[in-house]
Amino acid sequence: MCMETFEKGVENFKPSRTQDQILADIRTLKHNLSHEMILLAHHYQQDEIIALADVVGDSLKLAQKAAKIRNKKYIVFAGVHFMAESADILTPSDRVVLLPEPKAGCPLAEMADITEVESVWRALKNQVKGKIIPVTYINSTAVIKAFVGRNGGTVCTSGNAGKIFDWAFEQGDKILFLPDRYLGENTALAKGIPPELIYHLKGDMLNPVFQEDIHTAKVLLWDGYCSVHRRFRPEDVTNIRKKHPGVRVIVHPECSHDVVAKADDSGSTEKILHQVEQSKAGSVWAVGTEAHMVNRLQEMFPDKTILQLKNPGYQCVTMSMTTPEKLHHVLSELSKGHVIHQVKVKQDIARDAYTALNKMLDITG
Ligand code: SF4
Repeated sequence: MCMETFEKGVENFKPSRTQDQILADIRTLKHNLSHEMILLAHHYQQDEIIALADVVGDSLKLAQKAAKIRNKKYIVFAGVHFMAESADILTPSDRVVLLPEPKAGCPLAEMADITEVESVWRALKNQVKGKIIPVTYINSTAVIKAFVGRNGGTVCTSGNAGKIFDWAFEQGDKILFLPDRYLGENTALAKGIPPELIYHLKGDMLNPVFQEDIHTAKVLLWDGYCSVHRRFRPEDVTNIRKKHPGVRVIVHPECSHDVVAKADDSGSTEKILHQVEQSKAGSVWAVGTEAHMVNRLQEMFPDKTILQLKNPGYQCVTMSMTTPEKLHHVLSELSKGHVIHQVKVKQDIARDAYTALNKMLDITG
């Protein structure tokens, strides 16, 4: 997707004079720093940030891009904390990764606490037969990625979870899937694993008590969820179909399975973008993912009708924390030689997390 296409998304944006000036200043700062700095942005960022980015993508595309950056010292990441951590882990130690808003965490990633995960892991080892392969969604903290790296597992994204499940079942008997129970469940069901072989870990994870059916289960799901995608309901699909007969419904696999089952298709943000782009002029789509991206799709593809699955859509609060003002602040300090809001993963954590991330990149190409 070329940047011209993304820039069309802000044609109608009418910033105040002050913000207009901030955006112009950012362009100048970017130009002056372009020999040593690159700006990566996730699809869920605000339109003004997307229009300024050098690369826009989902978690997988941005991780792959970060891993290949050779000639830039500074990587400014317009996204959430785990994405900046992944960029730091995948790049040589002399690269500097900056997050314009240091408080921009991902609530889903924070739902897997390492002390709880290690406690469950010990209990599983002691009480459950068979080899368990830990797999974590890329939307997880570096310490969780390091945990799976140390224990023979890997990372997946919403775009490659199916392939990673295949790999994991070649290595062992069960998958412990962290931290998003919906992506884990949707992937398992899509692989033909019946619901009775999917086990939901619940209760006190520091003192876990397992039910009998954990012994036959193939996939063990951590109890985390994305607070944005969980808000979509199956009735939203029913209602949009009633209102717009013939509409194609596509949702992100972080939605619950009853929503995914009612939709026509599901997939990562890159897949959603691709499906909409490839559809015929005049197509009508209802999209169940973060609101900024859905609105932008309509601006990018004016020959199609793109609807929020549930009006007016749901924004990711922490993704929205990165504003032009905050980006301006980071770049302006950088232009004076001051590094602020650096994300640096501790060396031992980075080493094990790298093992897990690199394995994913090897498996998925
Ligand atoms: S949309 Fe959901 S998974 Fe993505 S950053 Fe926001 S809370 Fe995390």
